[in-house]
Amino acid sequence: MNVCERLEEILERIEKACKRASRGSKCAKLLGASKTVSPEVIGEFYNCGLRVYGENRVQEFLKKLEALKDLNIEWHFIGRLQRNKVKYLMNKVVLIHSLDRKNLADEIQKRALKNNIIQEVLIEVNVGGEETKGGVRPENLKELFEYTLKLPNVKVIGLMTIPPYFDNPEEVRPYFEKLRKLRDELQEEYKVSLPHLSMGMSNDFEVAIEEGATIVRIGTLLFGERK
Ligand SMILES: *Cc1c(COP(=O)(O)O)cnc(C)c1O
Repeated sequence: MNVCERLEEILERIEKACKRASRGSKCAKLLGASKTVSPEVIGEFYNCGLRVYGENRVQEFLKKLEALKDLNIEWHFIGRLQRNKVKYLMNKVVLIHSLDRKNLADEIQKRALKNNIIQEVLIEVNVGGEETKGGVRPENLKELFEYTLKLPNVKVIGLMTIPPYFDNPEEVRPYFEKLRKLRDELQEEYKVSLPHLSMGMSNDFEVAIEEGATIVRIGTLLFGERK
């Protein structure tokens, strides 16, 4: 299969999952999780129509941004974020998926204010409570969310998660369901709109869409195994 066919097949699977969930055929946006993928390969997928990419490391992102500056790519940041790197993302990424602590929120506020922008973010939730993963614990989510409400240049538009890995995607379903319920609770309690759920990767994106994902982050299935 060539690059464009691979992309088309994934888009079709997304569309089918959206229909199964009765959510309308374009219910979830495909984000290419492009860590370790070269600018040349990103360019090939771009030419097939994929415009949205998410990077995990700031240095790697900045290199690719420079190499691909002539393309109209919608960049997202999906990796763990150190405070001292926030400044490099301003005006370069439309969405930061990995807000998980107050001091990071403070830094985004500071840098966004300096740039006179409102930075959209997702709060990353560690739904599996795994030690090795980033994300705020579910029990601390409300406190962090409430904190962000006081930051005028930081706008939370939803939640993101990286659930525990299972070969069988059905075993991941409860974690996706949990993220959706946490989102629903925040909307209810704070009377806000949190339209986005960033969840689902190569192995489980269809289940994630059935549980309400609006952004699926796919790496391996698009670009092949990472070296
Ligand atoms: C690498 C990565 C993905 C994509 O994972 P695949 O299993 O390769 O599809 C999604 N989200 C994040 C945050 C990642 O780091």
